[in-house]
Amino acid sequence: MAVIIDGKKIAQDIRDEVKSTVAVFKKNAGIAPGLAVILVGHNPASEIYVRGKITDCEEAGFFSRTERLPEDTDEKKIVRIIKTMNKDERIHGILVQLPLPAHINPETVIEQIDPRKDVDGLHPYNVGHLFTGRPYHRSCTPAGVIELLDRYGIGIEGKEAVIVGRSNLVGKPLAIMLVSRHATVTLCHTRTKNLPDVTNRAEILIAAAGRAELINAAMVRAGAVVIDVGMNRPAGGKLVGDVAYAEVAPKASYITPVPGGVGPMTRAMLLVNTLNAAMGFPDRT
Ligand code: NAP
Repeated sequence: MAVIIDGKKIAQDIRDEVKSTVAVFKKNAGIAPGLAVILVGHNPASEIYVRGKITDCEEAGFFSRTERLPEDTDEKKIVRIIKTMNKDERIHGILVQLPLPAHINPETVIEQIDPRKDVDGLHPYNVGHLFTGRPYHRSCTPAGVIELLDRYGIGIEGKEAVIVGRSNLVGKPLAIMLVSRHATVTLCHTRTKNLPDVTNRAEILIAAAGRAELINAAMVRAGAVVIDVGMNRPAGGKLVGDVAYAEVAPKASYITPVPGGVGPMTRAMLLVNTLNAAMGFPDRT
């Protein structure tokens, strides 16, 4: 039976670490790390996510500001707000909650964020520099996956890693992070032929497809580390991942549950990114 990777606990550990660093930082710098969140419209899931992020900020001792804008806000207004936030010294991180309403181009908006304040790691500057190893910020969900592996002492170097899903948000940046850590990485998607053959090669298998229980036991190599990024809510049902947990867990060496695996890590890594920005990127080599 696999070791269950407790993302909830690791995320709490990270929040505690951030909180104690913030206390020292505030004493020395005389300011708190600051996060600004821009929320456009009334997407119920986004409202919940933003509330959670603000609670995290308050608990960690951050300064936070939420800019709530009506659904019909035009792109120019959002750009103006971002430009003001770029100059605001109390704000070290700016997050535009996605998805945005259909009339707004998310790329146009995100490109306006100062890359040093782009705590979601989605600005092309940070995405580009992920390739060269020197981004200001790494995208929170894939960074959270790497953090889970590290904190459980799971080696990455030389491992065969397979990711199911090639989105800009999760699959692609995670592939680069794993390659940087010397894994051999395969990215799969809907046109991948013989998906079970590919996933069966994985010593580290990451499911990020957004398809409930896509990964069954027959697709998993015995002893694999299985990380489930998926969050699917079948109509009226409870949250399920991309992995058929009950049948895969006995075959894996480590596995993340849903909920309580990768999900809490995304929020924790946002705090880490914002703190790093406030501290002037002490770990940036
Ligand atoms: P996305 O943009 O919809 O991308 C899904 C990817 O999976 C695509 O590359 C798609 O292939 C691939 N895919 C879909 N069905 C597949 C199948 N049957 N076989 C092989 N590949 C398949 O999704 P995302 O934003 O990356 O999110 C993925 C999942 O992670 C979702 O459930 C999302 O809710 C969850 N998520 C969780 C967190 C968290 O904090 N835990 C954060 C972000 C996302 P194509 O490219 O060929 O279409």
